[in-house]
Amino acid sequence: MSAMSLPQLRRRLGDALLGTERRLRNRLVMCLLANALYLGWFIFIPLFIIPRGLVSREVGQFFMAHQFIALVTFYPLVRSGLTRHWADPGLVVPQIVWACLVLVVGYAVSPVGRAVSLQTMALIMVFGFLSLTPRAAMWSGIGMVAMLLTMLAWCILTGQPHFDPRLQTLIILTTCFTLGLLSWQSHGFARRRQRMSADRKALAATLKEVEVLMQHDPLTGLYNRQHLQTRLEAERERARAGGHRFCVALIDLDHFKLINDRHGHAMGDDVLTTFARQAQAVLRETDTIARWGGEEFLIMLPDTEPVDKAGIALGRLRASLRQTPFSEEEPQMRVTFSAGVAEWAQDESIDQLIDRADAALYEAKHQGRDRSIQAPWPTRPPLPLERGPYLS
Ligand code: GH3
Ligand code: MG
Ligand code: MG
Repeated sequence: MSAMSLPQLRRRLGDALLGTERRLRNRLVMCLLANALYLGWFIFIPLFIIPRGLVSREVGQFFMAHQFIALVTFYPLVRSGLTRHWADPGLVVPQIVWACLVLVVGYAVSPVGRAVSLQTMALIMVFGFLSLTPRAAMWSGIGMVAMLLTMLAWCILTGQPHFDPRLQTLIILTTCFTLGLLSWQSHGFARRRQRMSADRKALAATLKEVEVLMQHDPLTGLYNRQHLQTRLEAERERARAGGHRFCVALIDLDHFKLINDRHGHAMGDDVLTTFARQAQAVLRETDTIARWGGEEFLIMLPDTEPVDKAGIALGRLRASLRQTPFSEEEPQMRVTFSAGVAEWAQDESIDQLIDRADAALYEAKHQGRDRSIQAPWPTRPPLPLERGPYLS
């Protein structure tokens, strides 16, 4: 086995730490960032803060226990995927509350805590701008302000050492104002983000609908002429590159005008829809049928060689139509079709191919309808392919 290159190693490590799913990766990046801070403090406290007497041993150990719990809880929970379906899958709000709790306690009991707590709370709020929901943004702001005010009241009431009530009240109230303002802005950002995401989804859904409308015939639900034309060009390119062949069958319903005249236009529409459904049911998944115009349909049959296979497919369709009652008033009424089938000849254009199918269809009509005719290669006469029993 060859040695792994540095970029490969980095990618593997990234995948192991953050997973491969984009959303999960974003959540875990935030968790790891917080973990890096926790780890830093976890090392810094016993090495520098406790030995220098900046906090008592008990308070130092309380901070370390707090950091340890955060290190072994948030990242593993999110990385395991356990929180994937929770309302807050990145555990953003619990992480904010947990971090603020220690910051507030730190502020109350230690001058070191006082130096770093308030800025860190503002920093947390700024990070929240990118990931919080409107609700979470509002509640984290309310939570932070409530914790700070509770801490202020507790410090004043218990008369904490080195805690000047007037100065601290001014600092804490100013901070509460700033945090409240940040939380309000974060809430606004989150709402705008949600609206933009909803707009993006609606736009994608509309584009999908437009695409469906552009590709389909509204009456039968089949592909329309333009779309099949594009597919035919693609199939031609595929056939040219791969050396295989494909067929087209141009179908025209027989005496359709009579159906309209006798039973009305609505009945004619029903016949077209039923025909489309039957055709889709008997064709292979790889075959594509489109409504070519009025009561004409075109089928593209890829990898259909010899051409008799197209005859088999059309025979199946003819047999299925024989079983299909099209009208409740006249259950005996049957619909037949004529078809011209052409196999793509090397270097022939799609228009030329369809012209040959059209000529064969004309021949099928000419010979009495209810049959399929195979289009000759450009130099030979049309050949009978298959036929139904009704019209001779
Ligand atoms: P032939 O066997 O020679 O094909 O005879 P035909 O009566 O089927 O041929 P013709 O082309 O004369 O008639 C086609 C009819 O199809 C005429 C037109 O009014 C009707 N038609 C075209 N589009 C629709 C449609 O969407 N709904 C209905 N109900 N009729 C349609
Ligand atoms: Mg016609
Ligand atoms: Mg017709």
